[in-house]
Amino acid sequence: MSTLSISALSQRIQRMEESATLKMAQLARDLKAQGHEVISLSIGEPDFDTPEHIKEAAKKALDDGFTKYTPVPGLPVLRKAIQAKFKRDNQLDFDIDQIVVSNGAKQSIANIFLSLLDEGDEVIILAPYWVSYSEIVKLAEGVPVILRSSIEEDYKVSAEKIASAITDKTKAILFSSPCNPTGSVYTHDELKEIADVVAQHDNIYIVSDEIYEYINFTDAHASIGSFENVKDRTITVNGFSKGFAMTGWRLGYIGAPKSIAKACVKVQGQFTSGANAFGQKAAAYALEADLSPTHAMKDAFLKRRDMVISLLKEIPGMKVNEPKGAFYIFPDISEFFGKSDGFTTITNADDFSEYLLHNAHVGVVTGEAFGAPNCFRISYAASEEELREACRRMKETLGRLK
Ligand code: PMP
Ligand code: GLU
Repeated sequence: MSTLSISALSQRIQRMEESATLKMAQLARDLKAQGHEVISLSIGEPDFDTPEHIKEAAKKALDDGFTKYTPVPGLPVLRKAIQAKFKRDNQLDFDIDQIVVSNGAKQSIANIFLSLLDEGDEVIILAPYWVSYSEIVKLAEGVPVILRSSIEEDYKVSAEKIASAITDKTKAILFSSPCNPTGSVYTHDELKEIADVVAQHDNIYIVSDEIYEYINFTDAHASIGSFENVKDRTITVNGFSKGFAMTGWRLGYIGAPKSIAKACVKVQGQFTSGANAFGQKAAAYALEADLSPTHAMKDAFLKRRDMVISLLKEIPGMKVNEPKGAFYIFPDISEFFGKSDGFTTITNADDFSEYLLHNAHVGVVTGEAFGAPNCFRISYAASEEELREACRRMKETLGRLK
């Protein structure tokens, strides 16, 4: 029975991995439901509520009758607000028809690759990378080409490495900055070097995922699409989930070359239609309103980052760097491989994360899912109290491994 039902599934879906972040979050919920005191640092979701003024705007939009289907690429009021935001924050000039709003940046990325790729096209993904990148590329029948980087390189891939990975099959380069899962931020100069490499090739697009833009502790966010030599072939992805604590609203967007924006609208028109109406009204308001709640969340994340780093440094064997953005820490834990508590031996990052979940009741995500088999991800979007307790438990539990 089970064999029959598996063979009914397409090769495409069988090749695709389940989302490791969502899976770990669910495992932590399940353990909690069984009565265990689990601290989940697995999912990348601000623990803050959406700022009050944005919620008020959504309530007003409901009362004003924003309850119907919306145009597939988004409400004009939101697309105009995004156009102004791109200009204000990113020095990017888009016409309205280059902007497409979707049900989360995740859908934006799926739209892009379903629009761009033919079977066998290669997408260079800078690793460590967000779990869904490789799987969306595979779903679109593309081939992910993973370029790894280590903690010693601050988890950044050099322009030279990118240049040497380009082939005549390369269709796009995909990365996030600030990065999920490492928190690394590519500087203006590093992005310029990447832009200069890409600009030497006519048919390669850059997909720049900037969803953590507002959680940047250097206050120097740079958008690769602002460089003259790649501006016509960069697709800039962003969204409301992280900077405005609006994960459950499901709103993301792109600014893209016209033909790609048009293709994304075509894909989305067949899959989901336009994003929800009253959410879009509130999102337009969020972009234009005072950003101080966003800045306050960033300040709180910075404080927690410093606290967690100092607690992690007390754990022998844990190698940490200092992420410059997002709300993740990505320790290298290769020193634990081969160690055992007498019952369980840790052979890789999957074992390590499972060991923490079952023995410390701390949910984290294995680096394997991010293309970094020596690492694991902690999301520190949790209260200081939870973070302290999670670090205490990790120290105690990992101390049993010899
Ligand atoms: N890109 C990155 C790097 C992310 O971390 C996330 C978070 N899930 C997304 C895109 C998608 O965000 P959403 O679909 O919630 O807008
Ligand atoms: N981006 C978040 C994470 O990495 C949310 C979960 C997901 O969609 O992957 O945990």
